[in-house]
Amino acid sequence: MTDQKPLVRIEGLSKHFGETVALDNLTLDIAQGEFVTFLGPSGCGKSTTLRILGGFERPTHGRVILDGEDVTNQPPEKRHVNMVFQDYALFPHMTVAQNISFGLELKGMGKADIKRRLQEIMAFLELDSYAGRYPVQLSGGQRQRVALARALAPDPALLLLDEPLGALDAKLRGQVQQELKSIQRRTNKTFFFVTHDQEEALTMSDRIVVMNKGRVEQDGTPEELYFRPASRFVAEFIGETNLLSGWMRGTEGDKVVMDWEGTALKGKAPAGIPAEGKPITASVRLEKLGFHADRPQTANAVQGRVVGKTFLGSRMAMQIAVGDKDEPILKAYVDAETGQSVGSDPIWIGWEADHMAVLND
Ligand code: ATP
Repeated sequence: MTDQKPLVRIEGLSKHFGETVALDNLTLDIAQGEFVTFLGPSGCGKSTTLRILGGFERPTHGRVILDGEDVTNQPPEKRHVNMVFQDYALFPHMTVAQNISFGLELKGMGKADIKRRLQEIMAFLELDSYAGRYPVQLSGGQRQRVALARALAPDPALLLLDEPLGALDAKLRGQVQQELKSIQRRTNKTFFFVTHDQEEALTMSDRIVVMNKGRVEQDGTPEELYFRPASRFVAEFIGETNLLSGWMRGTEGDKVVMDWEGTALKGKAPAGIPAEGKPITASVRLEKLGFHADRPQTANAVQGRVVGKTFLGSRMAMQIAVGDKDEPILKAYVDAETGQSVGSDPIWIGWEADHMAVLND
């Protein structure tokens, strides 16, 4: 598999709008069949990348290679790429079947072929019974499926999805996420998905590219980003975390030892080992902290007090003060029913070195 050519190669892509650098020397490969998500805050360059891939925008520098061919200067209709928009962009005066056929007609496909492809895609996406309906007669989820059917109908090599679930309410969004993921698996199409919603990215993607100010902050699987964030930005942007600010003390085997609130803590080392005495930050997820009556055997252990709690339904977030301070500086999840009580009794908090990532700031 490793010697396989990427479906998409993005080479040194930059885009300047006057003084604004929307994209800054972006380079990455996307393999055939991958579900890649571009994730990042507003203005980080996600949509600009997507528009360049779609041919709606020309880069200031760099190239886009699709299936071995340089398509940087090709217009959208010449590329083997299609797009699903957040607002679906369905034609209101056309039925579901007409909406899906439209793109095929534009491609110059013959009537018989259009009919065959239409039936195939409507059956695949279970839209048969809606063929004669107009968009206004469909639910948000159904409209989304029609938009997807229309985009998939011409069999594009690459499908671009620009926050396609943004208009759906939270419950329906969860369902459509599963559906979209399953369609991607079944078609083995390459999906380039853009969102600012980290939960959505974690749920659906094979790979997430976290963007910040036009640059790649980290590129990895959802698990890598969540458990091994490379920077403070990624640790904070993806899920909730504890950020511990301390000082570099040294290394022990493959672990970094840091001073934090008067205690030596061990964590996984970042890519470049910081110099001794340097200020460093570590990230440990809330669900990785355990409560103990006595000092636990874990690599890291601190004594503290529970000073507050927040009920979150399936779990409780506990706020913990450490040492003789009153301010909470750690947060931990516990079971909402059986969890810890707030009080002045000292407790021990423990976590393993493998569950704490020392970050490159
Ligand atoms: P959002 O999540 O809000 O859509 P984004 O990550 O998709 O944000 P982009 O739309 O790619 O961000 O924009 C990146 C930067 O480029 C922003 O600072 C934006 O203001 C700027 N920008 C984008 N399009 C243009 C344009 N046509 N003219 C001028 N500046 C632009």
